[in-house]
Parts: sequence; structure tokens; C-alpha cells
Amino acid sequence: MPVEKIHGGVPVSVGVAFGPTYLITPDALRVPRYSIDASNVDSEVERLEAALAKTQADIERVQQALVSAGKKDEATIFDSHLLIVEDNEFLDSVREQIRGAAENAEYAFHSRVLEAIRRLDQSEDPYLRERAKDIRDVEHRVVRALLGEREPAFGDLIDNAIVVAHDLPATITAELDRDKILGIATEVGAPHSHTAILARALEIPAVVGLGPVLAELQHGGPALLDGREGVLISDPAEETVDRYERVRDTIAQRRAELMTMAGAPSLSADGQSLTFQANLEFAREVDSALAFGCEGVGLYRTEYLFLQSGGEATEEDQYAVYRKLVDRMGGRSVTIRTVDLGGDKLLAGMEPEDNPFLGWRAIRYCLDRPEVFRAQLRAILRAGAHGPVSIMLPMVATIDEADVAIAHVEAVQRSLDEEGVECAQECALGALIETPGAALMANELATRFDFLSLGTNDLVQYTLAVDRGNRRIAHLFQPFHPAVLRLIRDVCEAGERAAIEVTVCGEMAGNSRAAVLLMGLGVTRFSMVPARIPRIKQVLSRITIDEAREAASEAVAMATSASARAVIEARFADRFESATATAGEGS
Ligand code: PEP
Ligand code: MG
Repeated sequence: MPVEKIHGGVPVSVGVAFGPTYLITPDALRVPRYSIDASNVDSEVERLEAALAKTQADIERVQQALVSAGKKDEATIFDSHLLIVEDNEFLDSVREQIRGAAENAEYAFHSRVLEAIRRLDQSEDPYLRERAKDIRDVEHRVVRALLGEREPAFGDLIDNAIVVAHDLPATITAELDRDKILGIATEVGAPHSHTAILARALEIPAVVGLGPVLAELQHGGPALLDGREGVLISDPAEETVDRYERVRDTIAQRRAELMTMAGAPSLSADGQSLTFQANLEFAREVDSALAFGCEGVGLYRTEYLFLQSGGEATEEDQYAVYRKLVDRMGGRSVTIRTVDLGGDKLLAGMEPEDNPFLGWRAIRYCLDRPEVFRAQLRAILRAGAHGPVSIMLPMVATIDEADVAIAHVEAVQRSLDEEGVECAQECALGALIETPGAALMANELATRFDFLSLGTNDLVQYTLAVDRGNRRIAHLFQPFHPAVLRLIRDVCEAGERAAIEVTVCGEMAGNSRAAVLLMGLGVTRFSMVPARIPRIKQVLSRITIDEAREAASEAVAMATSASARAVIEARFADRFESATATAGEGS
């Protein structure tokens, strides 16, 4: 009889899930199997040849890199990998299977590999057993090359499962079928990772940073996930399940109570008008965002459009999606961010980097790929003919980048006009302030843009040098750190001087305590995970601008994150009462 076991992690998305686990082990390679039409077997074999050629080139590149780094001996390890992609006897058997059984190349390759491994595993010779590992490695490379380096979308995902993985990159999370997933649990990760943000956006209970649990769990075994306290319970006892039924009811009841705020006016306690907008990753989130009372989209993360299409989305594809979004928002403003690829969101074919968050990311990618950037700008501006649309540039770090990007926007606008294409005549252009460098240059940026938006997730990461996805240092990711607050204050002041709006679309906007501070620093437009809107609206409706301002100036002058946070706690503890559970808010 299995015994209940509690695994502790970090809560990142509120809710309770009970169901079978679906384990994604780091090495698991999900190989699709399907039949090929007899007329297509030749092209299927060609697909195999192309994947083999790519794999060979990849391995040779790895070898070259090792040789250049003075690691000749290590480079020779890959000779045996090359032998496999050159082993004609073996490859003929794969080709034969594609032709004879009319099976897809991934499956044919995989099943022949399995056969070879079975033979090697039975061998007494340790050298031959070791070769099985090389074959596995080559198999992963070839199958990934066949799949365009993308994992298939977990077609075998069982209904209502709790997905447990070592890590679940945002790219994969975005592909999971939301309707089938009850919860997400990962061994690594932190509250501000894109995966955590996605889970909150999709309202999937989630716990990250559980440590090495995969080895202890049974695929398909029963588990209970508590995204409020941050625990995964395997083989829960009957009493535990009953207890959590009650917790689930309480959460649902509190959510329902809070929903009454969705339609309430957006005002501070002294009647200052505020705006609450939604951060969206997928256009399909719109209806639920509207139900939570969103008054526009403050951040549309367009990179998921690219990630889901597996490549650079065309102007027409993008236009169709943006247009639909604009139509569905019915006259509310929509802020579309140009692609923030790179970092932890890599397109197939993008080379992994040693320091991805300091690398070829966001506006750097856009400016280096002007054809991609301009196609996106065209799509956005065309959608802007049908409703109020703004363009937002991710991670602008220098004035030079800002100037080049602005020139692109102006050129695209001009060429659309010359072509007589219907497009927005007024389209606000904003920059995300996500680096300390940009915050320090806010005066100069404020004179160039129509609005600035604080991307606090990255601003915290870069200000405090804390990888936002790293569980081990998650306690150092401190949105209340006075260094962060001072930068935010400076950006707000720069906005005021230049008479442009400063908004916030990082997770701080959806954290009730942080939102109070932001209001005190002058922010009146907040964009967040839609489900957080009623709660933030409720808290800010209980606090006057003057109260928030006084608290913010006291907090900014503090020396530590804890003392800055304590200022808010001490002044407003009663205003935070009687609302939903706050665990999983992000800080
Ligand atoms: C941010 O960094 O705060 C932000 C809004 O962008 P993202 O979370 O997509 O990096
Ligand atoms: Mg960011």
C-alpha cells in the first residue's frame, strides 16, 4: 500500500489539483508514430536524410568548438557519435522500415535504435554497453532534427493530469493542452519565471522548486497539488483528499466574492481614477480577462505566437491574431509588445547562449532581424486601424537602440501610407524599462516615447543580478528592494517631467503590497495576470493616494527589502484583510 508523501516547493499559482501525475523526465523523448501515404515515402526518406545531415553537422560543430577550446581529447568522444550517423547498415534498416512499413521517419529511427540498444545492453562488454548511451544521444539529436527541434505537444497527455517535470520551459508550457492539465509541478524554477507567470495566466495551480521528486513518483500515480501552500502530495490518504476538498471550496468561495470587484469602479479611496489592464500571452485569454474586469491589454507577449508556430510568424498570421484581439477588446486599448525572444524563450534554430538573459534577446533580436521586426510592426499598425493599439518595445537598454527602433517604426508607418494600406494613424509607442541602465536614462527615453512601462520582473533580475528562474537564489529576487524602488521612483519622476505616462506590467503590478507602493510612486495604470485584477482593485480602493505616497517615500528610504515591505505591512495591514489567499502572488 503506497504511503502518502509530502514534497515541499514554492507556491506560484493558487489552486488545488487532485489527479494522476504525468511525468516528463528530462530525457524523455516523445516520438510520434503515424503512417505515411505510399506516395510520400520518398519524401519521408528525404526528411530522414536531411535530419541525418543536420545531426552530423551539429556534432562536427560541437567537435570544432571543443578543439578550438583546446579540448582535443574531449572532441574525440564524439567520433563514435559520428560513426552512428555514418553506419549505412543501420541506416538502411531505418530506410527499409520507412518504405516497407510506411512509418514516419522519427518512429522508424527510434524503433531501430531501441532494437540496437537492446542488443548492446545484453552484452558483457562494458565498452559496448557504453555505446548504447552514444546511440541514445544521437537518437535524440536525429529525432529533434526531424521534429524541427521541437518536442511534440504531448499528444499522449492523459486527461486531468498533474504535469510533473524537472523544468518546464515556457515554450513547452505554452504547448500543453490547458484543458487537460490540472496542475503543474517542477523540480526547479522560481516565482518570476515565465513558466510560473504562464501558469498564473492560465489559472493552473502550480508549485515549482520541489527538488528531485521525479525519481520518487510513479507515472500516473495519484497526487494532490496545493498551489497555495506550495506542496505536492503523492499517494494522498483519504483524509488528506477530503481536507483539500474543503480547501478547494474555500478558495472557490473567496474567488467568487472577489469577482464582485470585477465590475466595480477603478478608483483609489480618495477617488483618483486608476486603470487595470491584462497581461496576455494568448489571444484566447481575452474572454476570461474581460470577465475579471480588465480595461485593456497592457502587455501582449507576442513571442508565444512565434513559439507556437515554431518559427517567425508572417505579417498576415500576426495581423489576423492582432486584429481579432483588437476586435474582441471592443475599443479598449491594446498594447502589443514586439517579440521578446531569446532569454528563456528560444525559437527552434536559435543557438543556446552561455548567458541567455544577457544575450541576444528582445529588442536586440528585433533590431538584428529588421525584416522580422518590420513585418511585426506592419501587422500591429494594420490592426491599429480597427481600434486603439500601442506598440511596446521590450528591454530597450540604450538610447541608440531606441533611436534605431523609432526610425523603423516611422519608416514602416510611411511605407504603409505610401502603399495606401489601411493602418493606425495614431499609435502610441512605448518602451519597457527593464534594465537599471534604461531606468537611469529615463529622462532621455521619456522625451522619445509616448509612454514607458516598467517591466519589473526583468528590472529586479538585472538590478539585483538574480536570475528570475533560479530557485536557489529566489529569496534574493526582491521586488521591494530599495534599489529597485528607487529606480522605479526615478522612472516615474522622469515620466512626470516629460508629461508621459509610466505604467507597470511586471508581476509587481499584480502583487497587492507592491501595487500600493507603485500607486504611491505615481503609477495609475497597472497591467497584470487577469485573475489578479479584482484583488488589486479591491486593495487600492481602500487606500488614498496621499497615504500611498507617504508610505512609498518612507519605503524608498529604507535600507533593505524587508524593512521596505514592513512599512506597507505596518501602515495598511487592515486593508489587506478578508480577501483571497495571497500565496502564489509572486512575492
Ligand atoms: C517584465 O520583465 O516585467 C515583463 C513584463 O516582461 P516579461 O515578464 O515577459 O519578461
Ligand atoms: Mg521582461
